[in-house]
Amino acid sequence: LASRDFHPEDTIIDIKGVKIGGENLVIMGGPCAVESPEQIDEIARLVKASGAQVLRGGAFKPRTGPYSFQGVGVEGLTMMAEAGKRHGLLTITEVMTPEYVDICAEHADILQVGTRNMQNFDLLRKLGTCGRPVLLKRGFSATYDELLNAAEYILAGGNKDVMLCERGIRTFETYTRNTLDLSAIPVLQSLSHLPVISDPSHGTGRRELVEPMAKASVAAGANGLIIEMHTDPDNSMTGDGVQSLFPDQFDNLLKDLEKLAPIV
Ligand code: PEP
Ligand code: MN
Repeated sequence: LASRDFHPEDTIIDIKGVKIGGENLVIMGGPCAVESPEQIDEIARLVKASGAQVLRGGAFKPRTGPYSFQGVGVEGLTMMAEAGKRHGLLTITEVMTPEYVDICAEHADILQVGTRNMQNFDLLRKLGTCGRPVLLKRGFSATYDELLNAAEYILAGGNKDVMLCERGIRTFETYTRNTLDLSAIPVLQSLSHLPVISDPSHGTGRRELVEPMAKASVAAGANGLIIEMHTDPDNSMTGDGVQSLFPDQFDNLLKDLEKLAPIV
């Protein structure tokens, strides 16, 4: 079902009038984690003012260590839904277990599957019937074929609204957190009709690389970007402050991107 042979035209996902896929460029911006109502509201205001369409933020965080901040949980879903509504933004949040799919679907417009859960098949099956579009991140050691097979689980359940996300893979290089695989963008678009979103934040792990890799992703044909932005990255509650843009950097990036492709 994910294959271009099966479905030659680009899939366009329409969420409350925001179209994802085809010639459209969607920008999702926001913090790694929802931290407080004030934090997410202020970031939502800035994301909207810069011209992005979707507010990102994790209420449930998949952390490498069990003692690290795990996200504010269900309350974060409400904080984010309110901020999104107040500022006229769609919202995307990560869901980690099948049990939480329904509550996340109640609060968010798009559900995100993180790189660590790309092959959580029970989760993928549940997302097949969740009634919300899904952004499926590529596992950091997954091949294109494995990513497309993971998407197939969601599609097979009856959910046609799946986006693929390149978020960097693990290579021998340690300067960057991950290696953003730009080739994934045109390859996935040739193999599949699903929209392809690039995540230059996790793809590099370094703030100064987000802008060039965001532009490179759009030049490579990405249908959208998901970018971390924080008003106080040095004091953010996850380690991802180092890759989060400051609001003015996010704003300038979107102005530059507008020159490459209209953000619609
Ligand atoms: C995130 O988007 O904050 C995240 C945890 O992403 P990934 O699953 O790509 O690491
Ligand atoms: Mn993050």
